[in-house]
Amino acid sequence: MEIVYLGLGANLNAPREQLENAVVALRGLPHSEFIALSHHYASKPMGPQDQPDYVNAVAAIKTALSPEQLLDLTQKIELEHGRVRKKERWGPRTLDIDILLFGEQIINTERLTVPHYGLTEREFVVYPLLEIAPNLLLPSGKKLNTITATLALNELQQLPL
Ligand code: ATP
Ligand code: MG
Ligand code: MG
Repeated sequence: MEIVYLGLGANLNAPREQLENAVVALRGLPHSEFIALSHHYASKPMGPQDQPDYVNAVAAIKTALSPEQLLDLTQKIELEHGRVRKKERWGPRTLDIDILLFGEQIINTERLTVPHYGLTEREFVVYPLLEIAPNLLLPSGKKLNTITATLALNELQQLPL
């Protein structure tokens, strides 16, 4: 079993409900155990600014699935939650589930880059991740909590439960 951290994001169709429903689906993943969930965080969009603010969270699971099997299943969950893949990068979406870390694995395939390439640069990933894993070591050996000193909050706001 590997510990996997998943980044969740939504900015359409009641984003907080989208995240709650995503967590229900993640709890039902085969060969996996749900371990932790951060608060929800309100965040500003990346890229196109003419879209609603986002709600983000980070979840931790333990899984015996392979990275590709997990990606298949998380993409299925995205689609079941009404995600329509558009050409525009970083456009609005009902649900995004990104694999942030898969144990200590470093993966570079056509379908998967792990650790997620945006992990350490995105405040809406780093802060919720630190909430559930304050002492996290990245596969590079770097401590995640050293990053916050130089990472702007960009109006990130922890939302009440
Ligand atoms: P970003 O990756 O910048 O957060 P995004 O999440 O909106 O953007 P998607 O449209 O969800 O991008 O995914 C595009 C492709 O990224 C997917 O088809 C998937 O194969 C690939 N991908 C690569 N690495 C990962 C990862 N670690 N987690 C999820 N998808 C990944
Ligand atoms: Mg994403
Ligand atoms: Mg994605």
